[in-house]
Amino acid sequence: MIPSVLPTYNRAPLEFVKGEGSWLVERDGRRFLDLGSGIAVNALGHANPDLVAALTEQAGKLWHVSNLYRIPEQQKLADLLVENTFADTVFFTNSGTESCELAVKMARKYWYEAGDAERVEIITFEGSFHGRSSAAIAAAGSEKMVKGFGPVLGGFTHLPWGDMAALKAATTDRTAAILIEPIQGEGGIRPLADEDLRAIRALCDETGALLILDEVQCGMGRTGRLFAHEWAGVTPDIMMVAKGIGGGFPLGAVLATERAASGMTAGTHGSTYGGNPLGCAVGAKVVEIVSDAGFLAGVNARAGALRQKLEGLVAAHPDVFEEVRGAGLMLGLRCKAPAADVVAAGYDNLVITVPAADNVIRLLPPLNITEDEIAEAVTRLDAAATQIESASSSD
Ligand SMILES: *Cc1c(COP(=O)(O)O)cnc(C)c1O
Repeated sequence: MIPSVLPTYNRAPLEFVKGEGSWLVERDGRRFLDLGSGIAVNALGHANPDLVAALTEQAGKLWHVSNLYRIPEQQKLADLLVENTFADTVFFTNSGTESCELAVKMARKYWYEAGDAERVEIITFEGSFHGRSSAAIAAAGSEKMVKGFGPVLGGFTHLPWGDMAALKAATTDRTAAILIEPIQGEGGIRPLADEDLRAIRALCDETGALLILDEVQCGMGRTGRLFAHEWAGVTPDIMMVAKGIGGGFPLGAVLATERAASGMTAGTHGSTYGGNPLGCAVGAKVVEIVSDAGFLAGVNARAGALRQKLEGLVAAHPDVFEEVRGAGLMLGLRCKAPAADVVAAGYDNLVITVPAADNVIRLLPPLNITEDEIAEAVTRLDAAATQIESASSSD
């Protein structure tokens, strides 16, 4: 008999009933250190007092009115994002998937309005993840995601990750946009080199193609800058945001330049919930905190400490781990042991990590994790690795 919850997930046998900062409490009372943050969502930890205050204050006033009316909380969050980024304008969604939908529509509409209705092709990359809607699975293009779901939305060209020669060859006057994650998340914490991102920007400038960055996972302070592309010193035309921006409240956004957004006039797009007062009140508090230079300096300091300890962990367990990769507090441990076993051994030792493709486990702790918690987390990962070693030596 089918379970009452549609069984599309492989769930771990864990049931958390409370969260506090970097800690999650299981129903049985065990306290886990959370290096997953609900997949980079709980950017400021669980039950963050500032976010609880922002949420409850707004909850007592007004939850939802619809975009038929002006929404001051939405205006405030949009202004904050425009002040702190390349963007001139923002549309609010409820998820990364919805941000992908709009990014694709916006790029195509731009060319349509420019009198080039055939210019619809969007170049994307293998191993990428942009969400689960029909456009987002077509964008990623992996057989695992599209198979069985009927006609795949056309107009996407998939290139090997990081193959700049293939990208140059494939970018033509039919290319509406290039869509890429500065650091692939689901794909296994695979960072794009800064010089490659600069080269992609240059290629877009040469050909006119729009640059869409998917910063749903790597954005919102995760790499130690507000957005990951800032490290390369270039800006996109359109950017997808979600995950961390709501700190756990479902919220996403598409940021764009005035030019890229120029086709999106009244009536061309919309959302019932997107940008509602409750979500935006929380989002504004997250952006206020995370965009602060002092906060980001702290992220970089903590990231350096974590990375150094992880390098030591890899050196100490060469049969379990292969390398550390990623940036800031978006780190991956490429494993030699099956990544699923490493994640499970982490559960046994009360530390939560997130599996990814390429036999990688992801470490995406709250951005405000303390140095003591980092040390404790690595001690627990060390115990997990030792458990795997002793299990395989007793086989
Ligand atoms: C999670 C993710 C998405 C999809 O976001 P949802 O909120 O799950 O719809 C898109 N792109 C990237 C890079 C992601 O990590």
